[in-house]
Amino acid sequence: MHEMSIALAVIGQIEDVARAEGRSGVETVTLQVGELAGVVPDALGFCFRLACDGTLLAGARLVTRPVPGRARCEPCAREWPTGMPPDLCCSGCGAAAAGLLSGRELQIAAVRWAPGGVPAAAREPQQRTRPTPTVPEES
Ligand SMILES: [Zn+2]
Repeated sequence: MHEMSIALAVIGQIEDVARAEGRSGVETVTLQVGELAGVVPDALGFCFRLACDGTLLAGARLVTRPVPGRARCEPCAREWPTGMPPDLCCSGCGAAAAGLLSGRELQIAAVRWAPGGVPAAAREPQQRTRPTPTVPEES
């Protein structure tokens, strides 16, 4: 499945960073998903949850931030939202769009790391029920 390979790639990238920085868990991953990237956000979220199991990202939440498609016509210097399905013909001169300005994004916009590796739901201020590794936390 397309979405599954994307989910695995995203998880792999974040695991690499987590290892390099000594992170112990992930709360939220924010992905920019272009309208024209050919990805179904719901399917991606589903695959993400499955693929996170047994990794450092277990329990992490995936937030997808849609990026609208925009096309541009060179002769007219016109820009327009492509919509979905994409309209790639210039309404000024009828020519095909010279290119897409946006809408094909598929990238990690932000990662919120879990503090101390304790899931947010189980965390209470002033109380630690289990020892947590001391990881320097930058804020
Ligand atoms: Zn045009």
